Formats: sequence, structure tokens, C-alpha cells
Amino acid sequence: MTDSFYRYDVIVIGGGHAGTEAALAAARSGARTLLLTHNVETIGAMSCNPAIGGIGKGHLVKEIDALGGAMAHAADRAGIQWRTLNASKGPAVRATRCQADRNLYRMAIRQIVEAQSNLTVFQAAVDDLLIDGDAVRGAVTQTGLSFHAPAVVLTAGTFLAGKIHVGQTQYAAGRMGDPPATTLAARLRERPFVIDRLKTGTPPRIDGRSLDYTVMDEQPGDDPRPVMSFLGDAAEHPAQVSCWITHTSERTHEIIRSALHRSPLYSGQIEGIGPRYCPSIEDKVVRFAEKASHQIFVEPEGLDVVEIYPNGISTSLPFDVQLALVRSIAGFENAHITRPGYAIEYDYFDPRGLANTLQTKTVSGLFFAGQINGTTGYEEAAAQGLLAGINAARHVRGESGWCPRRDEAYLGVLVDDLITHGTTEPYRMFTSRAEYRLQLREDNADVRLTGIGRELGLVDERRWRAFQTKQEAVARESARLGALWATPGNALGREVEAALGVAVSRETTVLDLIKRPELDYATLMQVPSLGPAVADAKVAEQVEIGVKYAGYLGRQREEIERQQRHENTAIANDFDYAAVRGLSAEVQQKLERVRPQTLGQAQRIPGMTPAAISLLLVHLERAR
Ligand code: FAD
Repeated sequence: MTDSFYRYDVIVIGGGHAGTEAALAAARSGARTLLLTHNVETIGAMSCNPAIGGIGKGHLVKEIDALGGAMAHAADRAGIQWRTLNASKGPAVRATRCQADRNLYRMAIRQIVEAQSNLTVFQAAVDDLLIDGDAVRGAVTQTGLSFHAPAVVLTAGTFLAGKIHVGQTQYAAGRMGDPPATTLAARLRERPFVIDRLKTGTPPRIDGRSLDYTVMDEQPGDDPRPVMSFLGDAAEHPAQVSCWITHTSERTHEIIRSALHRSPLYSGQIEGIGPRYCPSIEDKVVRFAEKASHQIFVEPEGLDVVEIYPNGISTSLPFDVQLALVRSIAGFENAHITRPGYAIEYDYFDPRGLANTLQTKTVSGLFFAGQINGTTGYEEAAAQGLLAGINAARHVRGESGWCPRRDEAYLGVLVDDLITHGTTEPYRMFTSRAEYRLQLREDNADVRLTGIGRELGLVDERRWRAFQTKQEAVARESARLGALWATPGNALGREVEAALGVAVSRETTVLDLIKRPELDYATLMQVPSLGPAVADAKVAEQVEIGVKYAGYLGRQREEIERQQRHENTAIANDFDYAAVRGLSAEVQQKLERVRPQTLGQAQRIPGMTPAAISLLLVHLERAR
């Protein structure tokens, strides 16, 4: 019998954003979990911009939080500039973003990991997986140690056969300063996975003391400051500092254009495709040749460090070109670069080889999460990690898998997009990817997922109580305002007209008054006999959104129910598509390639026709 030091329920490989959430989720739900990672010091390290949240991404962070995850808590402990993006737009697209202190963030994640019961950390490079037949059994380290578990979550990020490019110079690395996972990548290529290359890049870092801020525009944070976690408090935030905005010049673009032949991107040296929405500066200058200037956000890397992150000039040009282009930017004339920018190419797995639990279809008990599934971004990685961790623990206990639907969470959208469509470029989340945006708001992530999280054993007593208290307060306040009637002649009607200068022309509840475009909860509370307002702004927000958008929400819910009727009709993994009469060879091939788990997923395969879906449905119903 092997020593228990070497035996676990779940092994997670990689201590990045996917790996830490995976390990925490598995351990939280009761599985004895081991986190194996290259270096304990880099647990929770942010490879690129130290920022958490933003449009689509903030939504994911709030969902991770509602399921008891770590990312939002760490952001609250590390955020040094806080903003609500799209604040003047509708609630569906409002998003929280914070610039984080890189070191504080890493430390916060490490502390959360170290405080988690059932979770052990061991520093090691994993060189191979133990696979017996078609089931995973554990992992083997570079030093020859074997760790055993019936479930393994792989979250190796940009490290698998990672190759860094700075100009024509290239070398193997996981990211700058970290070793690559070369042996593991080679072993995985011997297995039946579909593997390809992607690339991403990062800008040079600069000593902030060498910059002239007087020629830049200041971008202060918001007041009041938003918070990331449902349980968070702005008082936890270490600071609220400004970022700055400057621009590239014609000179910058000239420098870049004249050096394109030395760019690994344009010389054919880089094969992998990069993130479309986070292009390098050389890519932007080529693709948007008509633009004379591009915006650069000058963002602090931390409170106690001098480095800044120039957001918008990611590059893999040779270093001498980097130095020249940086110094052609307004305020950067005397800039001292502390770290060069670079691009990195790495192996990723075609996510169509995964079930919606993120378990691989070919190796039982093996789960993939994060950058290795073709995504980009800390939030996308963390969300997948959480899901894979939950499902790895459930797999070990012999329980069925769980994944939220597209109308329940951005996490559901992310996974469904990946496993159905695959990806040929790094996938990042946007609100436009969700068809039911109004249901999937940041502000209701708790309502959507805390109950499920509680059932899955992920939500602790403190969060559950706080959630229930809030829900009760929303119901109480809605009921109170719904029972107050204002009529053209009654005292309340007259008071509303006098205080707010609006006409009460027919009998209405105060709750319904919130529906009027010119009124909101806070305005109504100025009417003396209607107050006092609820103390918790989050409660007021829910009361208001619940009424203002009731019509849209109701219609969207009806559409979801219509869709749902066949959405969940299951299709077995070994389903014989050849037996469905009338399916074209092309459609049959597409279905065999993806092997959708449900009719809903089949419907979303590109090129799938309604006729093919009907044939499939008839066949499935007959077979029941
Ligand atoms: P990572 O954060 O990469 O973590 C992987 C972890 O696994 C590390 O701890 C590593 O040490 C460990 N590991 C790997 N292999 C092994 C092994 N064999 N044994 C043990 N441990 C192992 N995102 C954006 O959204 N926009 C960007 O512009 C952007 N630019 C980037 C630029 C660069 C240069 C890099 C490197 C990343 C960039 N990212 C960007 C991506 C962002 O960093 C990732 O999306 C995110 O970190 C992915 O999280 P992850 O947990 O999947 O992997």
C-alpha cells in the first residue's frame, strides 16, 4: 500500500488561475486534493496585465464567487484601481474591473489555497500522466515521484512546449522567467488528443519614474468603489490610485513599419494564432493602417513597485525596436524598460475533445482547464478550473457531472462554445457571446448560482446566510412598495407629484412607478412618506432591476423555456449517427466529430440544419 502522501482523490497540475480554482473547488466539495505546481512562489501569478474583471470577464468573476471561488476575494484584497465599466449603460453589460497589485494578488491566492482544508500543495514539475487503459491514475514528476488519484485536472497554461519570441531570438519557456513543460507536452502528443499551437504576447514593462505624466490624461478610479465579491467590502481594498492614458504617434508607427521584416509575427517564425481582441502593436499598425494613433493605458503594477504596465503595446519585435517605439510615445521619451515585451507560443487541445464537465472524452478521469483549452484570460481560466475541480471531485464520488446551461451562466456559454465550436484563436469572453444577456448580469450572479453552489457543497454557511438575508430584504422591499398605492387624488399621489414633479394620472403601486423611465428607486425614496430607503444598495438595485426590466426578462424566460424543451434531450457518446435515416454525409461527419451530449448542443454545431435536428429528434424519440 502506497503512503497516503502519494494518494489523493484529485490531483491538479498547475498553480495558475485555473489550477488554484480547480484545487480549491475539489477540496471544498470534500475531495482530498493535491496541487502539483512548478513553483510554490508563483501560485496565483498573473502572467500579463495585473487586472481582473472587465466586460464579460467581470461577469465570470462574479459567477466564480457565487460558487464559492477565490478570484473575487483575492481581487478585493489586491485591487488598487476600481471602476464600473459601462456604468451608464443597461445592467446586462455593466462590469466591474480592478487593476490589481500583482504581488498582493498572488499572496491573496496563496493564502486562500493554504487555508483550504483537504488541500495539499507540492512543488514539482509534472513530466507525465499515469494512464491505465483509458483511465487516468495519477502523475509522475520530473524527479520520478508518482502521485496517484482517480481524477487529474491538467491546467498547464502557456507552458506546454512553450516557446518565447523576442525578435528573431527564440527559446523554450513557460513564460518569461519560468521553465516550459516540454517533456509533458511530448508525452501528451503521444496520446489521442488533437493538439495545435496558439500564441499570446505581452508588452515591455517600464520604470514609472522615467515617465512624464504631465503630458498624459489621468484616469481616476470610481467613487464609490465597486467591489468584486458578494461578501467583499471596499474597505478591504488596499488603495484607489489613478491610471493614465497616452497615445502612440506617427513616429511610433513608422518605427514599427520599418522593422516588420524583423518581427517574428510577420517573418513566419510564429505559427500560432494570437488573440484577436488583444493584438500586438505591430498587428494593430498593420491591420488599422489608416489610424494615426493608438491609445495606451499606463497602469501601475503595484503599490510598492516602480514598474508600470503599458496596456496596448504588446509586442514581440526585437528589443532595439521595442526601445525606439516606446520612446516615441508621448511621455515615454526617457522611458527605462525593465522587462522586454515578448510573444509566447504554446500547445493547446481542441476543446471539442471535452465533455461539458471538462473531462476528456478519451481518458476517463482526466480533466483539462484554462489556457490549454484554447482560451485567453485569467477569468476564463479560473471559471473553467472551478468547473473542472467540481466535476473531478464528483467523478471520484461516482456522481453525475454538472455544468450550468447557457441561460444560467457565462460559464455555461464559455464551455458550450468551446466544446461545440472548438477554437482556432484564443477565446475570450464577451457579453455578446450570450444570447440571454439580460438574465446573465453581474448583479444577479448570486441569485443565479449561490443555491446551486450550496447544493454542490461549495458555498459555506457565511455566504449562504448573507445571500438569504439579501434575498429576504429584496422580497420585503418589493412587497412593501407593491402594497403602497398612489392615485390621482389620494395623499400619496399628491405627495409624489409635489416632491418629484411627475403626474400620477392613474392608480398605480409605488413599485410600478419605478418602471417609468424618468424614475428610479433612489428618486422615489425622496418622497418623505416612502422612505427610508433600504440601507443595502445591492438590495435597492435588485428591487429596481426586477421591476424596470420585468417585461424583457419575462419574454426572455419564455424563449428560454421554449428552447429548453429539446435542449436537454441526451445523446449517448456512442450514438450511431449512420443509423439516422436521411442525414447527409456532411452533417453525419460533423456530428461524429463533435459528438454532442444534448440535442441543444447539436443544434449549435456550425452548419447544422433544422431538418437534420428534426431527423435526429425523431430518431431519439423513437429509440426511447
Ligand atoms: P497559467 O496562468 O499559465 O498557469 C499555469 C500553471 O501551471 C503555472 O503555475 C505553471 O507553473 C504550472 N505548470 C505548467 N506546466 C506544469 C507542469 N508540467 N508541472 C507543474 N506545473 C506546471 N491573457 C489575456 O486575457 N490577455 C492577454 O493579452 C494576455 N497576454 C498574455 C501574454 C503572455 C506572455 C502570457 C504568458 C499570458 C498572457 N495572457 C493574456 C494569458 C493569461 O496569462 C492566461 O490566460 C492565464 O494565466 C491562464 O491561466 P491558466 O491557469 O490556464 O495558466
